Amino acid sequence: MKIFCIGRNYAEHAAELGNKVPGKPMIFMKPSTSLLINNNPLYYPAFTSDLHYEVEVVLKICKNGRHVQKEFADSYYEEIGLGIDFTARDVQSECKEKGHPWEIAKAFDHSALLSKELIHKSKLDLDELLFSLKKNDELVQSGNTKDLIFNFNTLVCYISTIFTLKNGDYIYTGTPAGVGSLQIGDNLEGFINNRSMFICKIK
Ligand code: ZN
Repeated sequence: MKIFCIGRNYAEHAAELGNKVPGKPMIFMKPSTSLLINNNPLYYPAFTSDLHYEVEVVLKICKNGRHVQKEFADSYYEEIGLGIDFTARDVQSECKEKGHPWEIAKAFDHSALLSKELIHKSKLDLDELLFSLKKNDELVQSGNTKDLIFNFNTLVCYISTIFTLKNGDYIYTGTPAGVGSLQIGDNLEGFINNRSMFICKIK
């Protein structure tokens, strides 16, 4: 199983970190050891002092594919989850400055929270899906998939020209504006529409 993540896929989020909107999807990956499931807590990693949340809609890939054509792209995912791409922002800034890869800032253990429950796409309007994140009961991020720069089908097609998609892979489709820092003791709760999808305590 592999996890693809898309950077800068919402214009307002790209702008808040001072980044330009990319001309094609910006991809990085996380290993299977980065998954955090079952509402387990996240232990604040010792190597960072600026851990950020990034709430994201997650696609679960349901069949193998390479060079997927646009008209078939939506048959490669059926279930939709909600996740957090936890990011060591201070470490990432250092990597960016030096032109180094991002793995130590993005792909560490438990950096990919995934909701326990996935929702079948037939029950959702994927073109206008509302999702949000609360920190300590206060709304900190809210997004709508209509604002995606590269939509789900475009991501499936593009990724599959470079990497073989396998049944069970995940695509974290990018975060909207409002990312921010976490402290030990914070409680996170993620929503698709008004449905609670996960909770996570930072320990
Ligand atoms: Zn992200």
